[in-house]
Amino acid sequence: MKPLKIPIPSPTQQMIGFNRPFLTGQETNYIQQAVALGKISGDGFFTQRCHEFFQERYDFPKVLLTVSCTAALEMCALLIDIQQGDEVIMPAYTFVSTANAFVMQGAKIVFADSEPTTPNIDISKIETLITPKTKAIVVVHYGGVACDMEQLMALAKKHNLYIIEDAAHAIDSFHKGKPLGSIGHLATFSFHETKNVISGEGGMLVINDEKFQKRAEIIREKGTNRSAFFRGEVAKYNWVDIGSSYLPSDIIAAFLYAQLQHIQQIQEKRIKLWNRYYQQLQVLTSKYAVQIPFIPDYATRNGHLFYLVCNSLEERTALIAFLKRKKIQAVFHYLSLHQSPFFQERKEHDGRTLAQSDRYSDCLLRLPLYYELTEKQLDYICYQILEFYEEKNK
Ligand SMILES: *Cc1c(COP(=O)(O)O)cnc(C)c1O
Repeated sequence: MKPLKIPIPSPTQQMIGFNRPFLTGQETNYIQQAVALGKISGDGFFTQRCHEFFQERYDFPKVLLTVSCTAALEMCALLIDIQQGDEVIMPAYTFVSTANAFVMQGAKIVFADSEPTTPNIDISKIETLITPKTKAIVVVHYGGVACDMEQLMALAKKHNLYIIEDAAHAIDSFHKGKPLGSIGHLATFSFHETKNVISGEGGMLVINDEKFQKRAEIIREKGTNRSAFFRGEVAKYNWVDIGSSYLPSDIIAAFLYAQLQHIQQIQEKRIKLWNRYYQQLQVLTSKYAVQIPFIPDYATRNGHLFYLVCNSLEERTALIAFLKRKKIQAVFHYLSLHQSPFFQERKEHDGRTLAQSDRYSDCLLRLPLYYELTEKQLDYICYQILEFYEEKNK
């Protein structure tokens, strides 16, 4: 057989890219071990290690690795038994999957605006959106900065709703000392290569409400009670519910476990870089009315992403082009989902203007932030951004 030609990445990466997946060095060793163990389907040795890691470090009552955060969100929609016409409230400023997982089960999505100070959902705008059909509120801890979970849980209790945390950005971040992902009834994480801790593609469901535990295992295993069978709780495994194949191969878990063992090191480095951006770019707020991340007193930063919010779309477009000329790749983020072609066609939006969400869509710019970004590169990026604003305001 002819050997496969694999393109070799250029060793001198001239451009400072937006993201670069970090490898601890242990990933391929663990993958080899997983292969040698002879069980590379789901729920093998490394999946168990990952589950234990999360249960021990964050005191999550029950976790299940999934093939993606998207898959974990789909599981949430099945677990809370979304029926045609049920309403789910969520921010318009989020990733497609937050909404799609519920749309797939027939939910009507009711989009809420973001806060002026952070892209998180504006909790003060939620209550008027609640109707007898509302079943759940899905929140996103944008950039790993917590939503006010106390207020949210109180609202959920008052109206008998489920809270689902899309914690895709939020690993190792906290609300008043409690890990994000441990507070809502259900929570989802992502290990996509753009997140802090990665496995290429990958995700996790956290089940905080005990009543969902058993069914979550079944839905994840194609609607069978295979998990209970492997624990010796039932004599044979059978088709007992709806479900799909949401569990990752143990090869993925082996990769992830290598990352998890280095989480402290990864977080320390990313937070250090985040702080350095914060220090150097803080001046933009008073001088040029540029917004930078805000950490409420109940929240922490986890170094997931650092962003600026420019004063206009034109300013952001010019800044992106300016940085590109300086060989720096800065990228925008979500586009308000209520404005998307798919959602417009459904004609489900009630016409409310979601001014903050649209502002973040037009004006938010994410800066390079990854483990191997050097302080020298970061200082160069900050210097160029300050240059841009000084020249612009001359
Ligand atoms: C990355 C991301 C997802 C999707 O994660 P996958 O693991 O790629 O499915 C969902 N929600 C948010 C907020 C994300 O940032």
